[in-house]
Amino acid sequence: MNLANERALAARAKALGESADIGALPELAALVASPSPLVRRLAASALGKLAGIVDSTASVDLLRPLLADAHPQVRQYAAKALGAFGPEAAPVLADLRDLYRNPAEKDYVKRSVAAAGKTIREALRIAEASAVHRCARCHRTVAADEYARAQKAFQRTYCDRCFDEVFLDRRNWETRVELNKTIRAADGTVVQSEGERIIAEELKALGIVYRYDNRFRIIKGYAIRPDFYLPEYDLYIEYWGMEGNLDYQIGMLEKRKLYQQAGKKLVSLYAREKPRLRQALREKLAVHLRIEFAQPGADAVKRPPDAKRVGR
Ligand SMILES: [Zn+2]
Repeated sequence: MNLANERALAARAKALGESADIGALPELAALVASPSPLVRRLAASALGKLAGIVDSTASVDLLRPLLADAHPQVRQYAAKALGAFGPEAAPVLADLRDLYRNPAEKDYVKRSVAAAGKTIREALRIAEASAVHRCARCHRTVAADEYARAQKAFQRTYCDRCFDEVFLDRRNWETRVELNKTIRAADGTVVQSEGERIIAEELKALGIVYRYDNRFRIIKGYAIRPDFYLPEYDLYIEYWGMEGNLDYQIGMLEKRKLYQQAGKKLVSLYAREKPRLRQALREKLAVHLRIEFAQPGADAVKRPPDAKRVGR
């Protein structure tokens, strides 16, 4: 190639880099194959400048072989240009690493290679963080923490609800049968066991506002029963309905520990107390709330004069 021709092609490569021309690829594809290292280098640089304008996959494919170019400056500019493609350049991360690890590689090439690798990895991380993930079962959009939890446990994406169901499917616990029960309490709350129905109705009878959370949770790998929460008293009620189940028992201990650590008030009721569950509930609530209740069957709640009421 004569000097004049080389200069003309170099100028053309440079101009294409400044062109913002979406149709520049075919010409640059020819220029990256030029016998002149100067032209190849400028063509690589031009591709980097056109990142976001021209087709990314095709551009990365053109740049990739230049990482193995005989001329270090071509390798350097190819690496720089690849960095500009961010996550689209992920397929060349291994090539960049090999180049960086090559003891014969020049330091200035290594610097560009390292910078490009860092940019691509960072761009991948950001793309991952902002990606919208959907539950593999119900296709609902899942939050970042749901995504992380499901990925960690199953290497799949599940929403919290499906996570619990999948978790139970895998363990095939007797718990599942219990969970699928739905029982309607007198006030319409759908609970999941006879014991919970009694608790719901007794709270209603006592005029105590409660929230019932029928979401089943896995805490630290153990199945955890739903809660009653009394917002007026910031108190939780747990009905431990499956004491005979070892997994369940461990879950129960874990959950109590969590309540303690969080400084939460917890009233525990047990399946064995079911024959006198209303009474047991009143007695335990009385201890926590310093409230005297009438005998079961009566609806009135006597509150001490200093009992704090918080808004409903
Ligand atoms: Zn789901």
